Amino acid sequence: MENLSEPTPQIIDSNSSSFLEQLLSHSSDAAIVVHPNYGVIYASPAIADVLGISPEAFIGRMAADWIHPDDVGSMLEYREAAENSGHAGPIIIRGLHEDQTWRFFEAEWWRPDLVDFAGGTILHFRDVSVREQARAEAARSEARLGALLLEASDVVMVIGRDGQNLTYVSPSIERVMGWSAKLASELTWRQVIHPDHLQRWIDAVTEVAEDPEGRRQIELKGLHKDGTWRWLDASILNRFEDPLIEGVILHFHDVTPRHLAEQELARRSLHDSLTALPNRVLFVDRLESALNRSQRSGGLVALLYCDLDRFKHVNDTIGHGGADLLLCEVARRMEVAIRAGDSLARLHGDEFVICADEIDSWEEARILADRLRRDLSKPFNHNGRDLHLTVSIGIAISSNDNPYSASDLLENADSAMFVAKKDGRDRIAFYNEAVRSLELSELAIRDALRGAIENDQLVLHYQPIYDLLSGAVLGTEALVRWQHPVRGLLQPGDFIPVAEESGFIVALGAWVIERAMQQAKAWGFGTTRQAKMWINVSALQLERIDIVDEITNLLSSVEIPSHAIGLEITETALIDAQPEIDTRLRILRDLGYSIAIDDFGTGYSSLLYLRRYSADTLKIDQAFVSGLGISRDDTAIVSSLRSLAAMLELRVVAEGVETQDQLQALRAMGCESASGYLLARPAEPSAITKILDTPIQLIRESS
Ligand code: C2E
Ligand code: CA
Ligand code: CA
Repeated sequence: MENLSEPTPQIIDSNSSSFLEQLLSHSSDAAIVVHPNYGVIYASPAIADVLGISPEAFIGRMAADWIHPDDVGSMLEYREAAENSGHAGPIIIRGLHEDQTWRFFEAEWWRPDLVDFAGGTILHFRDVSVREQARAEAARSEARLGALLLEASDVVMVIGRDGQNLTYVSPSIERVMGWSAKLASELTWRQVIHPDHLQRWIDAVTEVAEDPEGRRQIELKGLHKDGTWRWLDASILNRFEDPLIEGVILHFHDVTPRHLAEQELARRSLHDSLTALPNRVLFVDRLESALNRSQRSGGLVALLYCDLDRFKHVNDTIGHGGADLLLCEVARRMEVAIRAGDSLARLHGDEFVICADEIDSWEEARILADRLRRDLSKPFNHNGRDLHLTVSIGIAISSNDNPYSASDLLENADSAMFVAKKDGRDRIAFYNEAVRSLELSELAIRDALRGAIENDQLVLHYQPIYDLLSGAVLGTEALVRWQHPVRGLLQPGDFIPVAEESGFIVALGAWVIERAMQQAKAWGFGTTRQAKMWINVSALQLERIDIVDEITNLLSSVEIPSHAIGLEITETALIDAQPEIDTRLRILRDLGYSIAIDDFGTGYSSLLYLRRYSADTLKIDQAFVSGLGISRDDTAIVSSLRSLAAMLELRVVAEGVETQDQLQALRAMGCESASGYLLARPAEPSAITKILDTPIQLIRESS
């Protein structure tokens, strides 16, 4: 301060150059000597480069003339410090260039101890504008980034060498996760990462930290300060080689809403939108795991296939909207009825399925099905009106002994449900092994039947028909059997329905006609014996256009008269027959064949229609014959049939006579012919040959 009070104004004489002056004048940095009262008393030549002004012109300048007003204060402070201690700085000051722009200078004050500079102090400065502007820019952008990160939904962290310590946490963590940046940097991974994801996370960080090029993206659940788990999408990046970072950058944001949306989408694609129950996809998945579990535990898995009865009718009555509400209510009731652990699904429409896991018996499945039927039978309310529903339930079971795949089990339960429907609805049907083996045998029969003719496995048995007046044989009925290589002699009931269904009956029937005609020829029917061969024909055979030709051709090739042959067609077949069949039967009758209506009385056809048929014979079904003398109705029916037949000039054959009582009753009502076990059982031709000429004993032998 004493220097400032020095009264002598003095300009340094450039001629009295000193060592320091020479030093200053040769420096690329500018140097000035400032006197507290007179301002600049010396300026080095470099001043021209730094401030765009000649050293001479700069002499006499005061601080306020060229130093930025904001920096004047600190300038003077530093000069004072230098005067006391010899040196002060560096300090950044802004000085006005002659081009009127502010420049940044790094400046230092020196107190010249070696040479007297007339009480002045040396200010030594250089332009650092470029560097300072860059720094200011950096500071600005950092502030901007800081503000951004605070507001950002992204969180940035830098993980240090040890993989655990955080060397940086962006302030946005507070917004995203609730934790303050400071608190967050003190937490361990274990405290904030979901246990399910912790190991995966640590592995990922380690992996990235070990690889200079390391980079990973990972989704994991992190703990929000409010205690909820948030789904985070995190990327991790190795930046150890970047000296500014020296760590692993972790960058994450909250993707919980997206995750929830995805979950909802997944839920929807696995659920029925109407009832919110699982759909087929989810159900089959659950069924499969139930089946796997039961394989290990030895329990049973029951599948209940439920179909509401006459739901279409309900739909038509209460409309689509009403039906939808009803289905939802059905779903709710079912949910209540099933046991914990059972799974329920709606497949489509009014079809629901239940998988009952780990049950011990079939009975348990039945109890569950009964409960469902009971709960669904309680009235439903629709607009104040009571609606009553029933349900048909098919049950299939998979066990260790009889394991099924999910799709087979579904199919089996579905067919059982179908059986329940066919049996009259509102009931339960089990798909059991019996049904299955039956189906299997039907399949096996259908396949084996094809070979039965070629392999000569079909045989005909014959059953005599007797005249009830004379006891003589009036004819025989040909009844087919199948000598099955494995299963033995099969009766028509075992394979005729299958043959009818597959159409094979046509080939089979043709074989029977030919063989029976040959037998009739061998027995001399229509020539040496006044007897007829009765042959059963199916409606399918008669539906063929060329059936009449076929029969007449066979007849002429075998060479027997047509009146030796009778054709039997069942009453039920005639009822639904096409008109052509009736026409063909008429032609055959005109050609001399006899035509019988078989199983008469079982088809409920009006007796008056009898006239329409081209038949000449009625075969009264065994069902009525067996009731003779026991059931008044049956007796009355047979009696009136017999009178009606007489009026229509039809012959009557009573079938299935098993007792003497029946036989006598038939005789008493004037029935002219009959067959049955009492008289003769169907048998091979050789056995029949022996009895053809032996009349039966008709008079009851009194004992
Ligand atoms: P259907 O034409 O009514 O034949 C009479 C059935 O009653 C025969 O059964 C015969 O064995 C049986 N039967 C005869 N007497 C008695 C008796 O006293 N008591 C009892 N309980 N049964 C008696 P089968 O041979 O089992 O034939 C069953 C059915 O199969 C036949 O009933 C017929 O509809 C059909 N069928 C048999 N052979 C042929 C054939 O070659 N072609 C066609 N389309 N159907 C045939
Ligand atoms: Ca018959
Ligand atoms: Ca019959």
